[in-house]
Amino acid sequence: KESLRLDRYVSSVTDYSRSDAKKLIKTGEVSVNGQVLHNPAISVPSDAQLEISGQFVRQAEHRYFMLNKPDDYVCANRDRRHATVMDLLDEDNLDNLIIAGRLDRDTTGLVLITDNGQWAHQVMSPKSRCYKRYRVQLEKAVPESAVDRFAKGLFIQEEKRRTLPARLNLLSEKEALLEICEGRFHQVKRMFAAIDNHVVGLHREAIGELELDLSLAEGEYRSLTAEEVAIVL
Ligand code: URA
Repeated sequence: KESLRLDRYVSSVTDYSRSDAKKLIKTGEVSVNGQVLHNPAISVPSDAQLEISGQFVRQAEHRYFMLNKPDDYVCANRDRRHATVMDLLDEDNLDNLIIAGRLDRDTTGLVLITDNGQWAHQVMSPKSRCYKRYRVQLEKAVPESAVDRFAKGLFIQEEKRRTLPARLNLLSEKEALLEICEGRFHQVKRMFAAIDNHVVGLHREAIGELELDLSLAEGEYRSLTAEEVAIVL
């Protein structure tokens, strides 16, 4: 059976943030299977009966999936011309599912799909500072100076605001890891365009602490564990 930290469990089944959940636990407002627990870090079973301030919290039955997106699929619920990531899911009620952070048609890798709108918002909102890590193949060599420019934020075409601080890690001349916590339109491609380069391959490896499961072949998906659902909050 699965287990997870109590503060993560509380924030994943309620609207409380992690820090609010911690406060509630420390003040003795939270009981698990009838017992008051004061330690936010204690491990509890993911199906434990939760009570907050004397009220039972019923666990919402949400669905969460991670998909290894192949090239040439669009991140949309439907599309006139192209196959969509929803075509890869063998699930009911596909219309209730939303994509928590889209990838371009020619980008591959980790896509999160859920019917929990609030969770999706948390994953996507720049305010959450949830960093997405991309492996990027470039047409030209990337100068060392790009690391600093991306860290400071730069202006990309047709945008008035600088990009938020991004972490660039050069792996070789034409390959890099880039972590960004925003998801502006074609952001990675436009950031490299702003330094006079061109992205020829783009693959998302991680969202926050959630890494793409390497046992998933392209086009395959699986449900997230309760622990994984809680990890990005
Ligand atoms: N940035 C891009 O340019 N494309 C993506 O698919 C994701 C991030």
